Amino acid sequence: MPEMYGLVPERRPVRMCLGCRKRFFKADLARHTLDAENNLKEDPEQIRPGRGFYMCGGEECRAKMQSVVLRAVKGRQRHER
Ligand SMILES: [Zn+2]
Repeated sequence: MPEMYGLVPERRPVRMCLGCRKRFFKADLARHTLDAENNLKEDPEQIRPGRGFYMCGGEECRAKMQSVVLRAVKGRQRHER
């Protein structure tokens, strides 16, 4: 029912920016995945396999993101020993 579209509340997926921990629509965030060396790589098409890390694109968030993600990854490795 295309004519009903405007009356339906928007239900767009929401994700949290790992830098500022604010919530944004997923489409407004940049998805990143980790490569084999645990480097954060942007995923503009949002199709790469693996866990996605989202950020809003602010400079501070971008800088913070790498350390936040590395801490998460290292924490997981410690538990796996
Ligand atoms: Zn942010």
